[in-house]
Amino acid sequence: MTYTCPQQDDAVLDCDGGAATWRASVRAGAMDADKVSETARDLAAAVEKRRRVAATGAVTVVVLVALPLLLVSFLLGDRAASVAADSLVGRRHSEEQSPNNASSPAAADRLLGGLLSPEFDEGTCLSRYEALRRWKPSPFPVSPYLVERLRLYEANHRRCGPSTARYREAVAQLESGRNADHAECRYVVWLPIQGLGNRMLSLASTFLYALLTGRVVLVHEPPEMKGLFCEPFPGTSWLLPPDFPYKNGFSASSKESYVTMLENDVVRYVDDSSGAGGGANASALPPYVYLHLEQIQLRLQNHTFCEEDHRVLDMFNWMVLRSDSYFAVALFLMPAYRAELDRMFPAKGSVFHHLGRYLFFPGNRAWGIVERFYDGYLSGADERLGLQVRIVPYMAVPFEIMYEQILRCTQEHGLLPKVTNSSEQPRGLRPSSGGGGRAKVKAVLVVSLKPAYYDKLHSAYYTNATATGEVVAVYQPSHDEDQHSEARAHNERALAEIYLLSFCDRVVTTGWSTFGYVAHALAGLRPWLLTPLDWTKMRADVACVRPSSVEPCLHSPPSLVCRARRDLDPVAHLPFLRHCEDVHAGLKLFD
Ligand code: GDP
Repeated sequence: MTYTCPQQDDAVLDCDGGAATWRASVRAGAMDADKVSETARDLAAAVEKRRRVAATGAVTVVVLVALPLLLVSFLLGDRAASVAADSLVGRRHSEEQSPNNASSPAAADRLLGGLLSPEFDEGTCLSRYEALRRWKPSPFPVSPYLVERLRLYEANHRRCGPSTARYREAVAQLESGRNADHAECRYVVWLPIQGLGNRMLSLASTFLYALLTGRVVLVHEPPEMKGLFCEPFPGTSWLLPPDFPYKNGFSASSKESYVTMLENDVVRYVDDSSGAGGGANASALPPYVYLHLEQIQLRLQNHTFCEEDHRVLDMFNWMVLRSDSYFAVALFLMPAYRAELDRMFPAKGSVFHHLGRYLFFPGNRAWGIVERFYDGYLSGADERLGLQVRIVPYMAVPFEIMYEQILRCTQEHGLLPKVTNSSEQPRGLRPSSGGGGRAKVKAVLVVSLKPAYYDKLHSAYYTNATATGEVVAVYQPSHDEDQHSEARAHNERALAEIYLLSFCDRVVTTGWSTFGYVAHALAGLRPWLLTPLDWTKMRADVACVRPSSVEPCLHSPPSLVCRARRDLDPVAHLPFLRHCEDVHAGLKLFD
């Protein structure tokens, strides 16, 4: 869908609020299409020269695959050229031997339409190649521009990531106590908070922010997340080195917090008339900024998604970020980022689907759980229904009420057959005994911390025949009773179950749950969303709804009272936004 600019008096969400120069300089190689192809032509000529020293054959493939890397070297200078060249040679060698050869159609599928880099060693991350066999085909094509941007990002991460001289230089600068002017490598450090669903949403959002701003994402991996996810970028690591000094103790009121700095006059808005930074003295700034993107009463702080604030934030080479939210949605509120976002995601409803499939492959331990359970219990069924029941302790819906709502939802929408109150299968519904006929088997994967939903559902379908003659087999992988996000094995089970849900043909999820959002968005499925209870009636009149897209909901939109302007409802102005079905003030992307 094409976005049309609102009137200029919609100051907060305007298309061009006088910051065109900064927008043009939004980092990350955000060149326009003409410049990309012009540069690509120059680079093609340069690569042609290299052909003389390289062996003949396979060169066309090398050129095509290496162009993004060479683009990086062109854009980022001589030092990058050697990295790009090494990579070129290394890649050609591995492609000649690898079954992942990106030029074949089978490899393109295997690499999720080009989303994944062909440069990985399979054994280090089995799920990267095995998950694909269990997912339904993605309903969203991957845009070639997104693929190009991901390859550029990976090359930049290799240049600047941990263990490089550039990283050591950047840390030395950080420790010197002041920000650097025009640093070669810029970073955003992601700090975890809350449960796994929240973490995956906020990390995907952080990665998108890094793509838009030319930063390198570094992930603080506490012991409970050790090895949970595979490394997503080839030839480097996204893990924050353990000796990084600024990992703990941040809050909205920290003195390093951007909003606090603004209040204390430590930073000021910059005049953008002369380009990014407007000539402001970046080296006079503190060595890093903390961006607090945790919801406070279901809002993100003001001054976190206004363009004038992002111009200032952009001047810091080091940013530390903590968030519990899917703030990717809020990036779409910023006109400066929108052109890039449009090109990366022609389908707005595919943002987490693609970023999640790119970033979050379970490590081999969690993957072992997934494979054993899927192959043992689910793969043989004719159809798989996932049912995620999330009961939060601070607003615990009573069991009978939730159970009744689940039955209503699944039966009203034909997801599960009714039972007959008899163990005997009605005549006429028995599969024919000759010819090896068998009843259709529907597997129900119950995913919940509590065992009671599984117990009752399993018992109902075990004891009674169904009115359709189908066999309904109910399974639950684990029931830990309580959330223990501080425990690694617990998190591995949680990730495994998110993945198992994402392999189902249809899913029923619980409103408000980020765990459920991640599962259905990875799958590319619109779930049947169990609606929040009306506590005055102790009932949800509508048992479940189909959301407008597979995207997660941002529960806590940012306040957009930038410089005391009106706080407008973005849904009224941006055609790709809706309020969420389960969290009415929330925002989600859709097409
Ligand atoms: P949310 O609280 O529903 O938004 O989801 P989060 O994932 O952020 O936090 C809930 C955490 O509780 C999960 O990450 C798990 O640690 C745990 N949890 C909740 N539901 C389940 C479940 O069905 N299975 C497993 N294994 N863990 C769960």
